[in-house]
Amino acid sequence: MEILNGKTFSAEIKAKVKEDVEEFCKNHKTPLLACIIVEGNKASEIYVASKQRACEACGLLSKVVRLPEDVTQNQLEKVISNLNEDESVSAILLQLPLPKQLDSNRAINAISPEKDVDCLTNQNLGKLFAGNSNFAPCTATGIIKLLERYGIQIEGKNAVVIGRSLLVGRSVASLLEHKNATVTICHSKTKNMEEIIKQADILVVAVGKAHMIGADFVKEGAVVVDVGINRIDEKLLGDVDFENVKEKCSYITPVPGGVGPLTVACLMENTLTLAKLQASKNLK
Ligand code: NAP
Repeated sequence: MEILNGKTFSAEIKAKVKEDVEEFCKNHKTPLLACIIVEGNKASEIYVASKQRACEACGLLSKVVRLPEDVTQNQLEKVISNLNEDESVSAILLQLPLPKQLDSNRAINAISPEKDVDCLTNQNLGKLFAGNSNFAPCTATGIIKLLERYGIQIEGKNAVVIGRSLLVGRSVASLLEHKNATVTICHSKTKNMEEIIKQADILVVAVGKAHMIGADFVKEGAVVVDVGINRIDEKLLGDVDFENVKEKCSYITPVPGGVGPLTVACLMENTLTLAKLQASKNLK
């Protein structure tokens, strides 16, 4: 069994982004990532702080727009509209989840597709699912890069993705399918999930239920990617029971130190990608 070390690989990706940013900045303004955070979610605060640190490490600019917990939909969309218009902003990230009074889907689709760094607007998702997008949601991108970094073959494999959010499950399923895996998506209404999971050569779990996948579920020699982040008694646990499952699989991501750091590294890459696309458009 080999650990898929997202922490080490994310450092490599960020070092390459830093080099590319330096090159880009010889002829263009420094790309800026704007993160919108609605207050009241401790985990979101931690994620946004780590995204800011990563920007600094990669030579990218960042700014955080903080909104109170009781912000209205109109106020949020006005902030997004201002960032869309602001030429100093290359990329916009709306930190999810949002409080209950807000419609996430509407807010995401208020972001200009050209600045939609997590590739979540309907327009960008349409391109992604059609297989003609220049970029993809950060977590899904990170997972594919990690598999490829370790030389894991995707083509022809049975891949099972548990979870069907646009942010993770459906976008990683689409990327796996474009890489010629045969993909099954499971969700909360799936029947006989255990039988389906046992067929998986590559298993991606993105649910948000601590240790829901035990060793009994997993096929001998499978590659297991654990996207879940569950905070239990101040500890971070994945959706996979790592200690037991690791004995059975060929590769596995730890939590923490697996998919999480790659999401941040791919966010840096996507920020630069958007800045480059905007620069090439301005030349036409
Ligand atoms: P989400 O939007 O809540 O989606 C969860 C999915 O899990 C849904 O599709 C749901 O099915 C499915 N599900 C729930 N209970 C299930 C069950 N018992 N069996 C099978 N499927 C079940 O969550 P998300 O945004 O995709 O995030 C999932 C997890 O990944 C969370 O722990 C989150 O914190 C973590 N995450 C990590 C990163 C990272 O960088 N590592 C990034 C993003 C998210 P239905 O559609 O039927 O409701």
